[in-house]
Amino acid sequence: MVVSKQDIYQITVPTPFPVGDVHMYLLTGDVLTLIDTGVKTKEAWEALNDQLKSIGYSVHDIEQVVLTHHHPDHIGLIDQLPKVQQIAAHAYIDPWLTRDQVFFEQYELFYEHFFKRCGVPDDVRDSLNGYRGMIHYIGTGEVTYELTDGDFLPGHAEWQVIDTKGHAQSHLSFFNKKHGTFIGGDHLLYHISPNPLLEPIDQVERAKPLLQYQANLRKCLSLGIKNVLPGHGPIFSNISSHITKQLNEQEERATVVYKMIQQKPRTPFEICQKLFPTQYRTQLVFTMSETVGQLDYLEADDKVKVSEENGVLVYHIKKGLGQSKF
Ligand SMILES: [Zn+2]
Repeated sequence: MVVSKQDIYQITVPTPFPVGDVHMYLLTGDVLTLIDTGVKTKEAWEALNDQLKSIGYSVHDIEQVVLTHHHPDHIGLIDQLPKVQQIAAHAYIDPWLTRDQVFFEQYELFYEHFFKRCGVPDDVRDSLNGYRGMIHYIGTGEVTYELTDGDFLPGHAEWQVIDTKGHAQSHLSFFNKKHGTFIGGDHLLYHISPNPLLEPIDQVERAKPLLQYQANLRKCLSLGIKNVLPGHGPIFSNISSHITKQLNEQEERATVVYKMIQQKPRTPFEICQKLFPTQYRTQLVFTMSETVGQLDYLEADDKVKVSEENGVLVYHIKKGLGQSKF
């Protein structure tokens, strides 16, 4: 009986983004798979080639790519791997790789309309450049094998797909139950708390990414994870204390927002300006995602309610909670 031996190698390449280096993982098995493909820069390409060489491989050996999510630091070099037969990922990654113009137009319209409802003034919304500023860091291709929660990775039967939406609507992680190893993309990071980003899920609906992210953090508590191989930062264990700390810190951030609404009803943009007095001008999607996330959390917790006044959302304290436990 042939017992296949599986090895995992971590490959680290630089990015031009504030997050710093990004990790990919080379997985041996029935096929040679690269999980994530870094960012599309010359520096990342050279680092990938050098590190593959140091472990006895080359880019010509990689047969399959598996992706954790669609952000540009994770899908960059995908079109520079000449022997790749299959790209396995969440379906939401496909429009990014294929440059689906209809998808991009709807994606940009979503932010335009939703931020208007959040009270973001025209001159601030004008600074939105959607996906366009990032597209040259992203490779081209097509998802040829769609992954969903509970699937096993093709060619790696011990690795199960875990839906970890929140940071991105395409986010998947990969878990080897036998070894307790979790390849977590940006879902579980040791040194930073991933920003659950607002994204449309279709033409009219948006996801509630902070709620998704928290539910998927709690799900991770029960999987039996021993080691996390993350997309950024150190490999780590001690999962339950890490997740508990993240959930507590988030509760503290929600308390700050609750107190603002206790003073007076406010629009999401008014809250965003108070939380991020300067950053909102240059990082509107990040800062509004954080703000709306806290509002979704407080609303789900029955602490606040929302009304619409002249087409703009306004958050109020729920009656009877003026002297809440906060
Ligand atoms: Zn990342």
